[in-house]
Amino acid sequence: MTDTSTTAPPAEAHAEGPAEARPERLHDEDLEQLVSADVRIWNVFGVLVPFAGLVIAIVLLWGHGCNALQLSLMLVMYCVTGLGVTIGWHRLFTHRAFETNRFMQVLLIIAGSMSVEGTLLTWVAQHRRHHQSPDADGDPHSPHIHGSGLHGVLAGFWHSHIGWFFDPPDPDLYRYVTDLWRDPLIRRTGGLFKLWVVLGLLLPAVVAGLITHSWNGAFLGFIWGGLVRVFLIHHVTWSINSVCHIWGGRTFRTRDQSKNNAIFGILAFGEGWHNNHHAFPTSARHGLKWWQIDTSYLLIQFMQKLGLAWNVKLPTESAMALKREKMPAGTTENN
Ligand SMILES: [Zn+2]
Ligand SMILES: [Zn+2]
Repeated sequence: MTDTSTTAPPAEAHAEGPAEARPERLHDEDLEQLVSADVRIWNVFGVLVPFAGLVIAIVLLWGHGCNALQLSLMLVMYCVTGLGVTIGWHRLFTHRAFETNRFMQVLLIIAGSMSVEGTLLTWVAQHRRHHQSPDADGDPHSPHIHGSGLHGVLAGFWHSHIGWFFDPPDPDLYRYVTDLWRDPLIRRTGGLFKLWVVLGLLLPAVVAGLITHSWNGAFLGFIWGGLVRVFLIHHVTWSINSVCHIWGGRTFRTRDQSKNNAIFGILAFGEGWHNNHHAFPTSARHGLKWWQIDTSYLLIQFMQKLGLAWNVKLPTESAMALKREKMPAGTTENN
């Protein structure tokens, strides 16, 4: 077991490292992955098109329903792309909670890219910024720094959930991902983002078309396994930034307002145990109690058994005891 009790986010190590450890400048194509206006335009499409897909799906549902094939494609693609983000982008590439081989790294980058949440480098950079100053100035998506009263609460929720996606990009974002930028395989695989997005949308369409032998079947596969699935994965992921910093219980003392939320613990493959995560950012396990379902960690354990994951980091019992919030006498833990 490796101690992950430090709250120092990995971002600080990369952002504040010695000057010679940082790239002088990124190449144009790398910079484009992070901050270009082009990426922002794609973000608008990335949010609106899945929503349009959901509307089409609801209209088509009327009087017809949807069949087992469409639901299965949606579920399988939801799991593959969601786990690509939680196991790969978040626990592996952002926090280095475990190590794996190059083949698995590439697979996880591709699976995560299919969730249409921006490029790997941008995602990791923004998330490391979040851990560097959670719920304070500099946090790209805190719900708590938008004033008080009903307006402040609503504005905070909107910003943390989706509004931050359209903020002007920070030109210094690359400072948070110099480690990933320096790795050609990771940089180039992540740079093929648009290809992986198209692949993720076509794959369910092709499978459904082959099974039903019809263009209509392929179209419905695209709608359910592609657009509706992207819509769901978007809002579940973004709920970690919004809902899990507002509603839920707290087990550990942290300098932010992160919460453990059981609904998103399940829907987001363990990521909803967000107070645990802020207390121990480099832990491969977010659901730290037996009943806190953490599907991502179960899969990391499975990978470990197959020899596909090693140096899996977990917080020690003493580190957890030190950070546990003091509960008033006579009350039980609320999480
Ligand atoms: Zn957070
Ligand atoms: Zn994190």
